[in-house]
Amino acid sequence: MDYEAVIGLEVHAQLSTNTKIFCGCSTEFGGDPNTQVCPVCLGMPGVLPVLNRSVVEFALMMGMATNCRINTGSRFARKNYFYPDLPKGYQISQYELPLACQGRLGVNVNGVKHEIGITRIHLEEDAGKLLHGEEGDMVDYSFVDLNRAGVPLIEIVTEPDIRSSEEAVAVIKALRDILLYLEICDCNMEEGSLRCDANVSVRPSGETALGTKAEVKNMNSFKFLKNALDYEIERQIELIKDGGRVIQETRLWDSGRGITVSMRGKEEAHDYRYFPEPDLLPVPVEDSWIEEIKDKLPELPREKAERFIKDYELPLYDAEVITASKNLAEFYERCVELFPQPKTVSNWIMAELLRELNKENKDISESAMTPENLAGILILIDKGTISGKIAKGIFEEVYGTGKSPEDIVKEKGLVQISDDDAIRAVVEEVLNANPQKVDEYKGGKVGLIGFFVGQVMRKTSGKANPKVANEILQELLPSPET
Ligand code: ADP
Ligand code: ZN
Ligand code: MG
Repeated sequence: MDYEAVIGLEVHAQLSTNTKIFCGCSTEFGGDPNTQVCPVCLGMPGVLPVLNRSVVEFALMMGMATNCRINTGSRFARKNYFYPDLPKGYQISQYELPLACQGRLGVNVNGVKHEIGITRIHLEEDAGKLLHGEEGDMVDYSFVDLNRAGVPLIEIVTEPDIRSSEEAVAVIKALRDILLYLEICDCNMEEGSLRCDANVSVRPSGETALGTKAEVKNMNSFKFLKNALDYEIERQIELIKDGGRVIQETRLWDSGRGITVSMRGKEEAHDYRYFPEPDLLPVPVEDSWIEEIKDKLPELPREKAERFIKDYELPLYDAEVITASKNLAEFYERCVELFPQPKTVSNWIMAELLRELNKENKDISESAMTPENLAGILILIDKGTISGKIAKGIFEEVYGTGKSPEDIVKEKGLVQISDDDAIRAVVEEVLNANPQKVDEYKGGKVGLIGFFVGQVMRKTSGKANPKVANEILQELLPSPET
């Protein structure tokens, strides 16, 4: 029997407001422990939370960008549990009435479009952080850093519409792209700004009822998510095939061992005893505010990709790769303005530029390459000043130094030789030096033309115009016997 996987994601994104959700403390990452705290986020008795308007605005943007229905009177709730990183003994979250619900997210997996339901997007505060280890001569202690307590989060919950690990990765990538376009989350997964829990079950293909799910907690990289899901899906299928049953539990991904391990079962599951937060009013969202945000919403990755396909006639793949980053998409459009051959620009960005950027895990904004310089290289090729091969060397130098391609060409004397006589002399030299190959060519091995062109290019250090070299070779070589 064949089985299929059913997956739903719960994604936490830290909103990049300057201050926390219910107080004026800074949200800056990496400060000395407990230097960004006040009585409110320390959970002192008697303090009162005051909602940060920017947090609501950012969450509304995400709700609209994922086609959600906005609730104009959403409410906060207390989620009660005990843990040392949570000084109040409860987290302020949203429960029955989230800010946004019933949205849709489009993703592409290997060229096939899927639509994933967004169940809800709600607001909540983050907890603090525990540091386990030693400090000076204090060994085996745990330390509490509450700088993160009260940092604003949105939780995005998807419907169980996802059917594979690849699709799950596509969903979180699509969410990341939107968050970055909206500039409401830095999506730094290492720092925990974007993290996700995956709920997984399996069922016989064709079955419509849902199987029992396990939840894999807190994955902070695409690779972990993919590997954890692949492992978990396989584990559940094997279990069922062996006559066993999946139990509802929370599991953790052990990346060292490459397996998921049980953390707690249903019996130990938390009972959060949710109740409405008495210290906060319903979140007021006026229609005029919704309209205002709607007007401000930027063109989103999917719309941009569709426009690139239409306006620049790019293949879907190119359009998606380039629009995944807002900065890269802007870079691309500026290049095309300067050098209006959209597919050539796209090829260079995907093959050369992204290779270099990915090597260093950099965004285009952090590199020395400018649209003017990339377009400059393409213009030099187009005019026949340099060959494509030389251009790749120039690209690397421009990328590394930020120098203009024109200057590099001048400095190094890299101008392509298109002059007939000069190339003719080199071609003659090559033919005289390789009489045997010339005979073989004459005997019918016409593929040797590539060898001759190669020799001409080598003798001119790649500077000969290959088209001209080819033409002269065709002319000077004896006609092959057939
Ligand atoms: P819980 O009450 O255990 O938190 P929810 O119904 O709130 O469960 O769903 C949490 C997440 O789990 C959602 O993303 C949802 O799509 C997903 N989910 C729910 N049931 C299943 C299932 N049987 N298999 C896979 N995912 C599921
Ligand atoms: Zn504070
Ligand atoms: Mg739930």
